[in-house]
Amino acid sequence: MELICKICGTSEGHIELFKAPISRSLAAHFSPLRHITLKVCRHCGVVGIHPTPDLEKLASYYKMLERDDLSDEEIVASERRRKDYNLELINFLEHYLAQSPTSICDYGCGYGTLANELSKRWSATAFGIEYSERAILFASQHYQLNVVSAEPNEIPGNYDLIVCRAVLEHLPDPLSTLIALRDRVSEFGNLLIVVPNLWSFNLGLFSGERLQSIFKLVHLWYFSSVTLQQLVERAGLRVVGQREADGWSRQGELWMVVERVESSEMNHPTSVDTRLVVRELRRKTFYGRVRSIIETRTKNLLGDRLVSKARNVRKRVLRLLSDSSHEQA
Ligand SMILES: [Zn+2]
Repeated sequence: MELICKICGTSEGHIELFKAPISRSLAAHFSPLRHITLKVCRHCGVVGIHPTPDLEKLASYYKMLERDDLSDEEIVASERRRKDYNLELINFLEHYLAQSPTSICDYGCGYGTLANELSKRWSATAFGIEYSERAILFASQHYQLNVVSAEPNEIPGNYDLIVCRAVLEHLPDPLSTLIALRDRVSEFGNLLIVVPNLWSFNLGLFSGERLQSIFKLVHLWYFSSVTLQQLVERAGLRVVGQREADGWSRQGELWMVVERVESSEMNHPTSVDTRLVVRELRRKTFYGRVRSIIETRTKNLLGDRLVSKARNVRKRVLRLLSDSSHEQA
């Protein structure tokens, strides 16, 4: 029996892209899960990991990944690396805001640096939601931010701006969270969504072996601008502006500013040609596999010390490959 898609709500089924074993340490934690499969929904084209891992095990896995031992200095140093990124994100956001926000809520605020910079830009009060105890402590002591741990439907008050950065891709049910956040946006307010961009992944990320490393990042969904727009529209929101941007790490991102739609104005979500999505993913994967074979072979042949000398040669080969893949597209 086909499962209902958590993004579009249909049961038209999924197209399987890859099945891959998870690493031994992950298998020990998520037992009896041994394999994960990357699937595309036939109706909306969203890419996701199936089956969704057990929620309690997922929560304890996040606890395990938490870095309680980081000193304030270490956090400050790591947050400094995102300075330019935060500035660019805020400038993008400002361009699309209907009004200067007076109240801001950062859902999943981490150490609170972005929330702090947003509040300084508009002299607004900032509020944060975060699960990591270390992050809550840092944000409240270092930035004097009001940060609590809460479920999306427990967020108190309404906000002119809600930020949901690097959150949705981690959630088993991103739609219900987005609906809850929508209800906390004030009448002329906006929501900023940031997720990794499906199309920005290095070629080869979707080849079987690397699914393990994807799963380590606990990203359960991979959105393109079209599938994210679908999700947004299903949540009773409308896109005001978007950009395919560089992320703060090497991963490219989608930045999307949205606003509330009154239920009378809601229309049918944008449709997707799933066949195109699948074809493009398979094409990327094929060239990705070739690429990763070349990378491994180069390393084996030359050894680590000589790899840097071979880098230029490899770059040329890869460029040739990617040129020919574009020609075929
Ligand atoms: Zn779907």
